[in-house]
Amino acid sequence: MTDAVSRLAAIQARIAGRAGLVAVSKTFSAGEIEPVLQAGQRLFGENRVQEAAAKWPGLRVKFGGVELHLIGPLQSNKAADAVALFDVIQTIDRPKIAEAVAKEMKKAGKRLRCLIQVNTGHEPQKAGIAPEALDGFLRQCREDYDLPVSGLMCIPPVEGDPRPHFKALAEMAKRHGLKELSMGMSGDFETAIEEGATLVRVGSAIFGSRPQITR
Ligand SMILES: *Cc1c(COP(=O)(O)O)cnc(C)c1O
Repeated sequence: MTDAVSRLAAIQARIAGRAGLVAVSKTFSAGEIEPVLQAGQRLFGENRVQEAAAKWPGLRVKFGGVELHLIGPLQSNKAADAVALFDVIQTIDRPKIAEAVAKEMKKAGKRLRCLIQVNTGHEPQKAGIAPEALDGFLRQCREDYDLPVSGLMCIPPVEGDPRPHFKALAEMAKRHGLKELSMGMSGDFETAIEEGATLVRVGSAIFGSRPQITR
């Protein structure tokens, strides 16, 4: 058993079926991901379209039933590639992206589950729609673009207690009747599950630490 496979088992045991585990494989090679697929993991997250395009078509040939989530910011000129590659887009955060993804889904005859990323900490450097703009944006996604929005996603500030952010996101989802809540990472997924996460995104606690590059 590789280290990643034994860590995966430990994380799954801690989750204990309470939420879906998105194994975040960004920066790790196809060869490093394969043992985790062999162990039965099928939900994965990547944050860059190009990187995913280099790894996942090949892995999907070998392993059926993969569900790939885009968890990083999307540029509208990559929307077609993203729709072709991914099953779920967790980072819809502005009208231009909502419109581009909706258009590419129609072209491809494919409807991906979409989550709206909310910038719960109002951090200027971080992607996500401001919480106070969510109502209007959600209406726009549904009415203007016919985008299948099934939930919300957030990345709380690195510093401080993430729980209030998880609570706030859960409250927003409840208010809008959205079922999917993607929140919690390696350091705080149990807190997120306590606050209602249906998907947790865990990278380093499974695959090991990543090189210190900002992604
Ligand atoms: C990298 C990343 C994760 C995983 O982070 P870890 O701390 O390694 O678990 C989760 N969500 C997003 C959006 C990421 O970019």
